[in-house]
Amino acid sequence: MKYDLVIKGGKVVFRDEVKSVDIAVKDGKISAIAETIDDEALRIIDAKGQYVMPGMIDTHVHICEPGRTEWEGFVTGTKALAAGGTTCYVDMPLNALPATVDRKSLQIKLNAAKGKNYVDYALYGGLVPGNLEKLEELSEEGVVAYKCFMATCGSELPDDFKNVDDYTLFMGMKKLAELGAVLSIHAENAEMTDRMGQEMMKQGKTSATDYVASRPVFTEVDAVKRALFFAKETGCKLHFVHVSTAEAVEEITKERNKGMDVTLESCPHYFTITTAQFEEIGPVAKCSPPLRDEAAQAKLWEKLIEGKIDMLTSDHSPCPPEMKFSDSNNIFEVWGGITGCQNNVDLMFDEAVLKRNVPVTDFVRMIAYNPAVRFHLPTKGEIAVSKDADLIFVDPNQSYIVQKEELYYRHQHSPYIGRKINCRVTKTFVRGNLVFDLHEGIVGDPKGQLITYHSKAELLTP
Ligand SMILES: [Zn+2]
Repeated sequence: MKYDLVIKGGKVVFRDEVKSVDIAVKDGKISAIAETIDDEALRIIDAKGQYVMPGMIDTHVHICEPGRTEWEGFVTGTKALAAGGTTCYVDMPLNALPATVDRKSLQIKLNAAKGKNYVDYALYGGLVPGNLEKLEELSEEGVVAYKCFMATCGSELPDDFKNVDDYTLFMGMKKLAELGAVLSIHAENAEMTDRMGQEMMKQGKTSATDYVASRPVFTEVDAVKRALFFAKETGCKLHFVHVSTAEAVEEITKERNKGMDVTLESCPHYFTITTAQFEEIGPVAKCSPPLRDEAAQAKLWEKLIEGKIDMLTSDHSPCPPEMKFSDSNNIFEVWGGITGCQNNVDLMFDEAVLKRNVPVTDFVRMIAYNPAVRFHLPTKGEIAVSKDADLIFVDPNQSYIVQKEELYYRHQHSPYIGRKINCRVTKTFVRGNLVFDLHEGIVGDPKGQLITYHSKAELLTP
């Protein structure tokens, strides 16, 4: 057989155009793209009426294994990713125990991941107080980027992740600039958000709206501006995670236009759930930065439509139900993190492409091409000959209502349960292997592969 797989008749989404063409796959790679491919293949699949796109690369996923596997594990988390049309993800350095902040903890993470991933994966390393001397070894181990928190995070547990102080942030940036690595930042002013939260609680204000009010827009913008200033001083490449406000996007865009190497991501929940809806949905929609009001959300949509949002990520940050549904009715006390990675592609395709006429090529750049470029995944991110055959089918003519029972997460809660979505991911292929089919569910064994990047090695090659 000349090919392992031929996909026929789909609307294939390239970086700059959509064409009805056939795609042939051999040994996990895209080996031919042509108007018609009639050569022999082990398997021929008809994609008529459906979009064929590169799978999503979700660069913001918290798999909590090892240490907190009861929150979310590699098997359950990556089944959800596959079912949602994600073919590769980058795992965050926090929420598992130990946090991934040096060679030893990274190796513990890698061992835990082995043989359990249904999609391909890469790892983040953390920047935390006290690990400046460990950043280089993380690069040697192949992390694709580094992550730090300016907002308060973590727990009292000794191996848990900690947010940076200014010294660590600045010196970390200096070190990472030398390594040529990207630093991703959760940008919120820790002192302001902590103290405003405490003040709210003192006054007995513990509703969803009060929580949002304790983390106002300026607390994000302030942290973004400070990080940008530090980056200007140090020359560090930056990436801002889960940006929730148009004002922060503007600050980042301004610096990029002046030549700074900086990118940003935002998440489906900021585009699809408002503060008022958070109040109705309850704790499962709690995250930080928080969901914004309708006017702020409309402004963020404008930024997406203008092409200012480089990439979309889930910030899948799961937890057991008891951490979301306490008896106290105090929103400040429940876990801040949204379980959502199964509904990135369909939800945002519906909201952006179908409802707001965002070009599907722009959509594909946000979910696949831009993250592949920024996070050093050169075999991924677009449909082109010799790239990995990481492909998904999206049917724009099928709508469905998100049901609890269809979620693959370890714990089936999500703010999207009950929501109608006007398209459907019907197939997901990773390196040419079908891993999800709408009718069969998850197919086969976990064959996801680790992808590494060595920033320093690349710096040394002329
Ligand atoms: Zn996160």
